[in-house]
Amino acid sequence: MDIRKLVRKNILELTPYSSARKEFKGKARIFMDANESPFDTGYNRYPDPLQLSLKQKISDWRNFPSDQIFLGNGSDEAIDLLIRIFCEPGQDEIFLLPPTYGMYKVCANISGVAVKNIPLNTDFQPDVETILDRSNSTSKLLFLCSPNNPTANTFEASKITQLLSGFPGMVIIDEAYIDFADQESWLTKIQEFPNLVVLQTFSKAWGLAGLRLGMAFAQQPMIELLNNVKPPYNVNQLTQEKALEALENKKRLHLYIKGARNQREILRKELEAYPFVQKIYPSDTNFLLVKVTDADSLYHFLRSQSIIVRNRSTLPGCEGCLRITVGTPKENEILLATLNHYQQA
Ligand SMILES: *Cc1c(COP(=O)(O)O)cnc(C)c1O
Repeated sequence: MDIRKLVRKNILELTPYSSARKEFKGKARIFMDANESPFDTGYNRYPDPLQLSLKQKISDWRNFPSDQIFLGNGSDEAIDLLIRIFCEPGQDEIFLLPPTYGMYKVCANISGVAVKNIPLNTDFQPDVETILDRSNSTSKLLFLCSPNNPTANTFEASKITQLLSGFPGMVIIDEAYIDFADQESWLTKIQEFPNLVVLQTFSKAWGLAGLRLGMAFAQQPMIELLNNVKPPYNVNQLTQEKALEALENKKRLHLYIKGARNQREILRKELEAYPFVQKIYPSDTNFLLVKVTDADSLYHFLRSQSIIVRNRSTLPGCEGCLRITVGTPKENEILLATLNHYQQA
């Protein structure tokens, strides 16, 4: 499979923006090329456009080749770039499996790209047969969010493999929540599938949503395309520095993950005891999808108590459901104490 055959013509023909800093690889005596201020504020220079030191650290951490990593202003940037690289507006389409993360559709809409929705089955698993039946040469991207937001489950590996082999376009596996799951990442399969892109982020398990740093992992031709279309300095200096610092302390990451997973199961047990809780779905993430007798009323009650959860009850397949992010032990206690009052209301 040659993924360049899937790429829009204008992108294949693009002459990417080239900064003098990108063309010159050595150690310069004086930089007089970019109209920066010469006065040292700590941030007077443009950041490394390819974030090479940071990628090296991520490469060591994930045990994955550095030149097969793309970094973006959140994984949301990678989602947007993927659509712009592959989908001709008004002609091509992306495949989504609702209920799922909302940004895929928004990015497609902004780009004027059609969305084909193939709902997850009642077990919240991909309907492989229908996806493959309904795909053709205009089907450029298939977004698999696994573990999925908001259903909290991981997709079966055999189904994903069938899709990777059978889907005519690129398959994007969004692993924003992979660190909370028992299942393995698809990173190890990238060398097998030229059409596979794995997305991960610093926003969830790392606790660094404010930095805006997302990762895309793929074979090199895909990474080159992303680098050609991205804004030259898409990851700012402060973000690169803070992420490097975070990667020095992976123990902290493991503590966050362990804490979130423990609290998730404590919260599940406690929530199950309330009469208005009908079902709590299994979770491979840092949130619980909770089916209640009256989602709107519970949502508004919690909001009146200044506790904000996500009302997902209008999504097909999520009728009656709230999505509750696992908080600190203290926050979870406050949620439960507040729910005691709802019970009495
Ligand atoms: C939170 C989340 C992201 C993270 O996006 P960033 O732009 O990296 O913050 C990506 N995908 C899914 C499914 C998410 O839930």
